[in-house]
Amino acid sequence: MVSSSLQATNRGDDIEMADFNPTLNEDQLTIQKWVHDFAVDVMRPNAEEWDEREEFPWPIVEQAAEIGLYGWEFLANAMFNDPTGLTMPVALEELFWGDAGIGMAIMGSGLAAAGIASSGTQDQVMEWVPQCYGDAKNIQTGAFAASEPDAGSDVGGYRTSARYDEAKDEWVLNGTKAWITNGGMADIHVVIGVVDPELGSKGHASFIVPPGTKGLSQGQKYKKHGIRASHTAEVVLDDVRVPGRCLLGGKEKLDERLARVRRGEKGNAQAAMQTFEATRPAVGAQAIGVARAAYEYSLDYAKEREAFGRKIIMNQSIAFMLADMATEIEATRLLIWRGAWLGKQKGFVNAEGSMAKLKAGRVATHVTERAIQILGGYGYTREYPVERWHRDAKIHDIFEGTEQIQQLVISRAISGLRIE
Ligand SMILES: Cc1cc2nc3c(=O)[nH]c(=O)nc-3n(C[C@H](O)[C@H](O)[C@H](O)COP(=O)(O)OP(=O)(O)OC[C@H]3O[C@@H](n4cnc5c(N)ncnc54)[C@H](O)[C@@H]3O)c2cc1C
Repeated sequence: MVSSSLQATNRGDDIEMADFNPTLNEDQLTIQKWVHDFAVDVMRPNAEEWDEREEFPWPIVEQAAEIGLYGWEFLANAMFNDPTGLTMPVALEELFWGDAGIGMAIMGSGLAAAGIASSGTQDQVMEWVPQCYGDAKNIQTGAFAASEPDAGSDVGGYRTSARYDEAKDEWVLNGTKAWITNGGMADIHVVIGVVDPELGSKGHASFIVPPGTKGLSQGQKYKKHGIRASHTAEVVLDDVRVPGRCLLGGKEKLDERLARVRRGEKGNAQAAMQTFEATRPAVGAQAIGVARAAYEYSLDYAKEREAFGRKIIMNQSIAFMLADMATEIEATRLLIWRGAWLGKQKGFVNAEGSMAKLKAGRVATHVTERAIQILGGYGYTREYPVERWHRDAKIHDIFEGTEQIQQLVISRAISGLRIE
């Protein structure tokens, strides 16, 4: 009998774990330094201000656009011209090391762009993705609106309706979306609507809501625990009419897919699993950027701060805490890079993308909490950045699939059973 851990290392003829090489090439090292420099020069000095303001940091995003860090070309290059899969996690770790709130403001439009790229036709991608970004002189943003007030993890519970008005070749959207990054303020909204409620999550489709469309408005803007420079709000859709061409993938493809589901034919679950899994290591990389920021800061602090006549790092209890923090970060980065690489090879077996995200969220939350402990009273104040990093870390246990949803996905993958 082959053990499950052995199965995880044997992925068939094409994909061998021995081919996984966690070494960055010259291009990746250059990108890493480029993003790190931006984080040091622009993000770090502005992080506290935008966290306090709880507003979208337009001037910072403009600066990111000026150097090409905010823009669809960067995203496309990092995602599609990199066979190793490591470029994106490397860039994201540096960005979120700089600041998670501003990092999310820079990356948030990518959620919409990815939604368009995964479901849209080539023409739709060419038309709408650039509009999620604009340019440095005219910054535009995108929002990906899936979650609803009564259904986040439970995607089968979405209620936003999408009705086709055949006479006008228009789709009519009605409902409320919750916790949407860039929601309401975005130029392009990608909205998940329920076309056939009988089919649960298989009856959904994605729609573009173009700029200035009547009926779309921003509901409440959330006051958040962390990543406060990122704009998060409700999106209200009240008889929003969009032209037929705004249905991502097109009507013919949707009709065919719905017909297959109604006939009870199984979709390509394996392909869907590979797609979802592939996005998760990137979120893990964000988390590890925040963790590394807190670890580095608390290491420096522990070497400076004195108590009982010696540097606090000279106490094993502090030094060992830092040793654990460093170990967790290094181990998690490897898991993330392996997940990102497997995503490129379409080689997930045991939901390794979810494993990377699950572990990284937990590590970030734990490491940033330990950093507060090392700074003692100072760590608990807003005078020092570690409390902000702790607040910023927590979101990685929640969005893009909660901790428990990752566990669900992993437990189903390792057991082959429909765990509930
Ligand atoms: C800052 C922020 C930004 C976000 N940005 C976006 C965005 O841009 N677009 C978007 O569409 N959404 C976005 N979200 C929504 C986010 O994806 C959801 O909050 C998340 O999926 C969890 O859904 P929920 O909040 O409804 O929690 P629920 O699904 O209600 O979960 C509540 C708790 O129950 C647990 N739980 C639920 N189901 C199960 C189960 N079957 N087994 C075990 N435990 C379970 C969860 O793990 C969690 O602990 C964002 C959220 C935040 C906070």
